Amino acid sequence: MVKPNLKRKPMEPHTWKRRWSREKIDDPSLPERMCEEYKSFLDTCRTERECVQRIGGILSEHGFIDLASGQRPPPRPGLGFYMINRGSGIAFGRVGSTDIMEGTNILAFHMDSPRLDLKPLPLDGDADTGLGLIRTHYYGGIKKYHWVNIPLTMRGTIRRSDGVTIDVAKDRWTFVIPDLEPHLSHKVQDHRKLPDGITGEELVALAAQAGVDEDAERQPVVGAMLRALSERYGTTEEDLISSDLCLVPEYPPRDVGLDRGLIGAYGQDDRVSAFCALKGMIDTPEAGRWALAIGFDKEEIGSDGPTGAKSAFLESFIYGLLEWMGRPGSRRELNSVMSRSFCISSDVKAAVNPIFKGVHDIQNAARAGSGITITKYTGSGGKVGTNDASAEMVYSLRSHLNGNGVAWQMQETGKVDEGGGGTVARFLASRNMDVIDVGIPLFSMHSKYEVVSKADIYMAYRAFGTFFGNFRPSRPPS
Ligand code: MN
Ligand code: MN
Repeated sequence: MVKPNLKRKPMEPHTWKRRWSREKIDDPSLPERMCEEYKSFLDTCRTERECVQRIGGILSEHGFIDLASGQRPPPRPGLGFYMINRGSGIAFGRVGSTDIMEGTNILAFHMDSPRLDLKPLPLDGDADTGLGLIRTHYYGGIKKYHWVNIPLTMRGTIRRSDGVTIDVAKDRWTFVIPDLEPHLSHKVQDHRKLPDGITGEELVALAAQAGVDEDAERQPVVGAMLRALSERYGTTEEDLISSDLCLVPEYPPRDVGLDRGLIGAYGQDDRVSAFCALKGMIDTPEAGRWALAIGFDKEEIGSDGPTGAKSAFLESFIYGLLEWMGRPGSRRELNSVMSRSFCISSDVKAAVNPIFKGVHDIQNAARAGSGITITKYTGSGGKVGTNDASAEMVYSLRSHLNGNGVAWQMQETGKVDEGGGGTVARFLASRNMDVIDVGIPLFSMHSKYEVVSKADIYMAYRAFGTFFGNFRPSRPPS
């Protein structure tokens, strides 16, 4: 009988950082407590608006001041502050003990996740069945077949004719997009290619049922759906036009696995970064360089619009800080702050999925549970559409993480010609900032139940906290 070889191979530089050990944790119950908080955060934050409300609320509970409130105490090192952008973006930070002109440590993340938006006129009634339907238009890069036969709930905002804004946040209404049963799908569906298993126009949710009126132009069920909404929110059909409504998975976040080492939930791309940045900032009151975090919307559809990473919100925010510091706040000062800042662009990264290992170059792929990733570049093909961080930037970050006992690993999205993706890093780098991508490994990105390792959440929290508290970039080449 061959005995298994239990001797460990000597560890290579590119593998030893994959180990994540409990010895580094002062309080071993901390990661578990943090993950409980994280699950509650995810449960209430199903849209970017809900994220902004929750983050703003938590910051304010911890004494961070709202810079838009008009009450601006004189800045002193360590003082926390935040600014909300149109209810869908947020920036927050702490005053540094250094001059803001010496640059900031800034971390960027996004709060929007793929979902099913309601069409502008979403309600419809089927004349043959009397069923009420909600028509949707998907948002972001989803695999459409994921979204059938799961409980969905409605979230979002309606601006009524009287100007009152209604938050559709905590309703227990459940909807479902019914797939075709295997007994009947042979001809119409079984031979489609997987991405077309369900098409965009077939993403229609069941929303009510009522009797059929064969002569009616509109089925009675439409009136029944409008009445239900009106009773709850006082809305009319026209009010639904001025709304941001979507369907998102209804089920709550859960621990996954016999060891409960993973968390399964909708929307962890990229709210895991939002949570770790928030928590890292709150728990790091030390004032070194100015610490900033900025959360964007619209990342999943290209970062356009006034709440996306391409917008000038970041510039407005920094102008605001300069004015608060009694600086003139000219373009010159802004450029100085930006060019001396160091930015971490934090977003989730594909973890090696043991069922589909072939899409990765394993040596350059991220393992769940092995720490955060340093991602030098994203993009696709020949590194197209990316911010390729320089040797100096990677050095700055790697030496910082090593010095602070944070487990990290290098990562590429997949094999060279396998596919690819992008982050907000390149839009931030276009402002003449040093930017580097950092990631949290995740399974089944853009699905309705994404999975993340608790160990990596804890490491991201540690990495971000120390980045805010004591990171100093190495001097760039002149
Ligand atoms: Mn993302
Ligand atoms: Mn994404």
